[in-house]
Amino acid sequence: MLERTKELENAKEKLEYLATVDELTQLYNRRYFNEYLDQEWRRLGRERKFISLIVCDIDYFKLYNDYYHHQAGDKCLYQVAQCLKNLIKRPADLVARFGGEEFIIILSNTNSLGAEKVALKLCNAVAALDIPHHRSKCSSHVTLSLGVATTMPRVKVSPQKLIQAADKALYKAKDRGRNRFATVEFSPKIIH
Ligand code: GH3
Ligand code: MG
Ligand code: MG
Repeated sequence: MLERTKELENAKEKLEYLATVDELTQLYNRRYFNEYLDQEWRRLGRERKFISLIVCDIDYFKLYNDYYHHQAGDKCLYQVAQCLKNLIKRPADLVARFGGEEFIIILSNTNSLGAEKVALKLCNAVAALDIPHHRSKCSSHVTLSLGVATTMPRVKVSPQKLIQAADKALYKAKDRGRNRFATVEFSPKIIH
């Protein structure tokens, strides 16, 4: 009977793990990211501290897949994911796979200057992996574009608004030539 309970406990743990982690990259998945963001939003709001988000997107990744094929694409995604994870070390920070070739990072208690420093470090680190990308239009190797947004959370503002701001910053980085980061000012309109 005791063994059966242990078995069930192990199965439950495995299921919980599978529900929070992205299989390919071994990063947290989007579902877990949203849960954690809501939690940090409330906590940092109470403590009147900053939160920053960085959205990262691999440049010309469709062309990478077309040229090197899907299996190499998967390997590249894993390498980039591990690189990001290795550089984000503070216990309250979180790196997640946001979708296809996009990643998102929560930097707790971090202002925009701090977040920009991290974004630059990530951008340089991925370039330094030196993964060849013969089809890229901005470099000879795999690169990232990154969008940064920062705020002091308020309960009346949805954290999804900060994601939208970081996404807007990402498109600014793409527009300016990719392989770089950009920042947008976050000024939410509170609807009562
Ligand atoms: P941009 O520089 O503007 O970001 O262009 P892009 O080609 O990176 O962006 P686009 O959104 O056009 O294409 C994303 C590609 O990412 C599409 C698909 O080939 C690839 N992709 C998405 N998810 C996966 C995955 O799980 N594995 C692999 N191998 N490729 C993926
Ligand atoms: Mg994309
Ligand atoms: Mg892309």
